[in-house]
Amino acid sequence: QQLQHPPHIVLFPFMAQGHLIPFLSLAKLVHQRHPGRYTVTLVSTPLNIRNLRKSLPHDSPILLRDLPFSGVDYGLPFGSENTDSLDYHDIVKLFQASEALKPHLEHLLSDITQREGRPPQCIVGDMFTGWTAVVAKKFGVFHATFSTCGGFGTAVYFAMWLHLPHLHTDDEEFAVPGLPENIRLHRSQLARNIRDTDGNDAWAAFLQKQISLNLQGASGMLCNSVEEVETTGMKLLRKVTALPVWAIGPILPKDGKSSDSRTGKKAEMSLATFVEWLDRQSPASVLYVSFGSQNTIGAHQMLQLAAGLEASERPFIWVIRPPLRFDLNGDFRIEWLPEGFEDRMRESGKGLLVRNWAPQLEILAHVSTGAFLSHCGWNSVLESLSSGVPLIGWPMAGEQFYNSKMLEEELGVAVELERGPDADVTERMVGRVVKQVMRSEKGEDMRRRAARCSEMIRAAVCDGEKQKGASMAALDSFLEIASRAPARGD
Ligand code: UDP
Repeated sequence: QQLQHPPHIVLFPFMAQGHLIPFLSLAKLVHQRHPGRYTVTLVSTPLNIRNLRKSLPHDSPILLRDLPFSGVDYGLPFGSENTDSLDYHDIVKLFQASEALKPHLEHLLSDITQREGRPPQCIVGDMFTGWTAVVAKKFGVFHATFSTCGGFGTAVYFAMWLHLPHLHTDDEEFAVPGLPENIRLHRSQLARNIRDTDGNDAWAAFLQKQISLNLQGASGMLCNSVEEVETTGMKLLRKVTALPVWAIGPILPKDGKSSDSRTGKKAEMSLATFVEWLDRQSPASVLYVSFGSQNTIGAHQMLQLAAGLEASERPFIWVIRPPLRFDLNGDFRIEWLPEGFEDRMRESGKGLLVRNWAPQLEILAHVSTGAFLSHCGWNSVLESLSSGVPLIGWPMAGEQFYNSKMLEEELGVAVELERGPDADVTERMVGRVVKQVMRSEKGEDMRRRAARCSEMIRAAVCDGEKQKGASMAALDSFLEIASRAPARGD
């Protein structure tokens, strides 16, 4: 009976788009590389499963299963099942609520065991759901943690939360236990939750527990990165976790289409509008500005950024979100955009302003795009480097600060504009950094380095008859090991 069922892989992402989407892309990739060889089930809460189902064709082999979830029991607004539009303080409640899925996941595994005569071969969990490693152990199942961040970012994030080194020094700059001495961080590189923690609050309690459970219980890690691009980061991640790490990235949406199809968010302009506008610009002349799917910048910061972009006289595409407290649907207002800015940009053709959402992959892939002013979210980083586009970093949250550091210091493909949501960005700073990236020898060097990253990425995902890229080989090796290995500690 055992032989009748292919090896079964259960994926359990944390409930945020930046996790759900790469996990779904991983499921697609497994089926695409090995049609029919594995059963892949992706598990989440009902709302997330409904959303994911909409993005899959009816005949998709990926199985989607939902688990009962009641966020209101944890103080979440009614209907909240992911981080979309959640307040900062509610995110930690979502973290806590996610652990309540544990008995339901166990129930699902029991069902699979009964139906298939054995438990699944492997659970792929998330860095925020270390408790899935405990479940895996209970069922004697191989467990891997899939980090949807880069190697360097994940390693530093783990080490920072486990040791909270900034609480033990008054220095502005400090080393991080577990990382080499030469990797020093500055207080300005702390995300809000880690800056404000006293080591005993809900953030620290949750993250330290989940990271530790992952490190104790996982048999290995998958990382959405490329070994050759992130050589140092991968070494660090192996050192910090003491686990085998498979660099299987970049896992980007397979159809190469922009994220609106994945998340339901729509660009207000058609793709053709962007392409026509970009076609009119010279090669590598356009600055693309976007802060990802979650962040908005403040009114003063927007005014300064707008003035800096206008003064820099480089063409730009800017994905604009009204600052918090301003009306999303109202007209552009002089409180947060210079008077007449939108009209001047439209009439002169200098800048394309788009509200809320733009087709990022296509913009980055266009030959006219020369740099990306980004919050350095990992998906944005991978997308930029895949297209050979250097970055201007303005990290805002999470491990984005470490990504930005790595891009600037290790890869030499970025310069940092400022750090954090409270940064005092000025018109002059914007002008200086845009000039540096778009019009200087250093900028040319960054572009060459980014192009080299793009080549390495292409080689890593190459899947030819004769040659298999490093990321594809790593994925196959993981699948092979996961479907044979006994659970850790058994
Ligand atoms: N994205 C997009 N259009 C936008 C803003 C974001 O397509 O206007 C996509 C982007 O291509 C990326 C994702 O949303 O795939 C953002 O992920 P990232 O990890 O960079 O940042 P996050 O949104 O998680 O902070």
